Amino acid sequence: MNALLPRPSIFSIEPYVGGESKIPGVNRIIKLSSNEGAFGPPPAAQEAYAAMAKELHRYPDGNATALRTAIGGYFGLDPARIVCGNGSDELLAYLILAYGGEGTELIMSAHGFVMYELTGHYAGCRVLKVPEKNLVADVDGILAAVGPRTRIVCLANPNNPTGALLPSSEVRRLRAGLRGDILLVLDAAYAEYVTEPDFDPGEKLVDESGNTVMTRTFSKIFGLGGMRLGWAYMPQQVIDVMSRIRGPFNVNAAAQAAGIAALSEKGWVAKSVAHNNEWRAKLVAALEALGIKVWPSHGNFILADFGTGERAKAADAFLRARGLIVRAMGAYGLGQCLRITIGTGEECTLVAEALAAFAKQDG
Ligand SMILES: *Cc1c(COP(=O)(O)O)cnc(C)c1O
Repeated sequence: MNALLPRPSIFSIEPYVGGESKIPGVNRIIKLSSNEGAFGPPPAAQEAYAAMAKELHRYPDGNATALRTAIGGYFGLDPARIVCGNGSDELLAYLILAYGGEGTELIMSAHGFVMYELTGHYAGCRVLKVPEKNLVADVDGILAAVGPRTRIVCLANPNNPTGALLPSSEVRRLRAGLRGDILLVLDAAYAEYVTEPDFDPGEKLVDESGNTVMTRTFSKIFGLGGMRLGWAYMPQQVIDVMSRIRGPFNVNAAAQAAGIAALSEKGWVAKSVAHNNEWRAKLVAALEALGIKVWPSHGNFILADFGTGERAKAADAFLRARGLIVRAMGAYGLGQCLRITIGTGEECTLVAEALAAFAKQDG
């Protein structure tokens, strides 16, 4: 008998572990482990989703034309250069499989989003992780790591899980220092939360460079993580590639309808950003008052640093015993940290109170 085996690189992939949502024996769970928006799904999206029930026998529009038109209108972008995906994870996978593969290298920063590494290995790429400076991507380090086989650089900006924002001038310098045959993927999953006035999530660079792609998602501020809906803005040459490899019906009909409706929800983004600014600042202040270091965050989450892995584990256990689920960071090599999503005001208050009680008993 010959053993059935996939390509060898498949076994270098550690299966992705998502944020937990259950604790045995605990009734009320507060899930702050997946950066889902604080307000649930937009009401208009819920209605659109329900209305789709009677149409589920129909195939979706394979080109997601109405959705791309809505995204283009909302963000001021050409719908012809937008591709939608079953979550932005799917689009990242298409890009990495198309431009990477055996014999190529993918570069990411040391604590960049873990999907780049997993998908890079899936594609057969060698994945290089470049050390950061104070948990911020280091442009000079990335440029120094580029070799003849480098084909893709992935940068989440703001980054998850660190929350770090690389200034647009630095992103521009990165692009300028990369060869033309290297695809720069700017993952702007948290772009809507950024309040820096000169922030370019990537669209200007996409327009100027011809070899840069910006990915976005409906999973975070738009509260549709369960629908699986993402999109990317890209130059025509990458559109041509995507149209060859994309599953013909990769975005389901309910997700298309919900996405369009979410964009139409009046004031949703402004309300979410205002809430995030207020409660992120309050949570940071509360934790810092307890002597817990918090890394500067531009997303809807914070990275709380307990100094040692032991203390972070103890804090995690303390929170879990109270039904509060946050994200342990061992998989990112940040075992001394916990990532905490900005939830409702009540949820943030409960986390702050629980950590105050933890600090008291822990000394
Ligand atoms: C959540 C997240 C995504 C994934 O988004 P989906 O659209 O749900 O696949 C991508 N990148 C980063 C940095 C994220 O945090």
